[in-house]
Amino acid sequence: MNTLRLVPESRGGQSEIFCGEGAFQEQLPRFLRAHAKRFVFTDSNVSAIYGDLIKRTTGADGLFVMEAGEEHKTERTLFALLSAMAEAGLHRTDCLIAVGGGVVGDVGGLAAALYMRGIACYQVPTTLLAQVDSSVGGKTAIDFHGVKNLVGVFSQAKAVFADPLFLDTLSPREVRCGLGEIVKHGALNGALFDRLFAHQNGLTDLETLKSLVFDNIQFKASVVAQDEKESGVRKSLNLGHTTAHAVELALKTLSHGECVLIGMIFEAKLALLHTECDEGYLNELIALCKAALGGAWKLPSFEETARNALLDKKNTEAGSVVVTAPVKKGKYCLLSLPFETYLNETEQIRRELC
Ligand code: ADP
Ligand code: ZN
Repeated sequence: MNTLRLVPESRGGQSEIFCGEGAFQEQLPRFLRAHAKRFVFTDSNVSAIYGDLIKRTTGADGLFVMEAGEEHKTERTLFALLSAMAEAGLHRTDCLIAVGGGVVGDVGGLAAALYMRGIACYQVPTTLLAQVDSSVGGKTAIDFHGVKNLVGVFSQAKAVFADPLFLDTLSPREVRCGLGEIVKHGALNGALFDRLFAHQNGLTDLETLKSLVFDNIQFKASVVAQDEKESGVRKSLNLGHTTAHAVELALKTLSHGECVLIGMIFEAKLALLHTECDEGYLNELIALCKAALGGAWKLPSFEETARNALLDKKNTEAGSVVVTAPVKKGKYCLLSLPFETYLNETEQIRRELC
């Protein structure tokens, strides 16, 4: 069992993180004893597979199951959950346990932060993506007015329990989704990059990935500890994401993780054109992203796709696009490009790739 304590420098709430076999069945119950009532929040898929185990382990006094899927990350689900919590008579000293992927973690974390101005929240991430990324760092939100994560708060879970027992039932697609953020962490941390590069040929192997989860949590937690509210170094976690979000908006068929891998390839190539970078390393990173992407992926012309990048929150000047590009091992830079340049170069890169 690996453990760490995330203590943000900003002195927001601190969080304990348990990672490994036994995190869910042995560690979580120790925390739950402190609460008179335990309310479980999960989604329809997770409940179908793990419902009995969850009830047995948590001794749940109340349960709310949302429909699975990002399209349900809405105010409707949030308020339905809050209603169920009120009906169960939860008090300030009771707790919410969010068991699921990133969607459940986001909505559950927000509900726990809002209910009676905040009750204890325990996160049990059940997807690879949620274990290595979204469950760590205290970001909570719902999508609103057509904008992803528009309404939310920073609120650290009291504890996070990342247990490999949940990962065996993930689809290959879901596994790749987590892999996108794992490779991104590798692009920001040299030691992690070396470990990933050594496993280049077996990157989607679940046992390999399980062995990498704690390193990823540690890295993410170290970034969050320095910059909980994303005013500085936490922005580095947007690496590859300007182009990733642009592709994600244009092609609904690709998952976020796949788009992150594609975004990193494009932004590494932009770095090759515009920065004093380590060419050999960037080519290795590109090879790693391609290995993680696996089979064939095709992208349509960037004429429309590139325009989506103009919506990115990082952009500071009208008519230019800011990307967080990898440049050297463990190093990134913010690159601001006039829109025309971004458009022409990404289209050229796409032609070479596809
Ligand atoms: P994320 O990929 O951000 O973690 P979701 O919360 O939407 O996003 O989870 C992705 C999908 O995987 C959902 O359909 C969810 O129900 C399902 N899921 C979550 N955990 C598991 C699991 N351990 N095994 C199988 N499916 C799961
Ligand atoms: Zn991401």
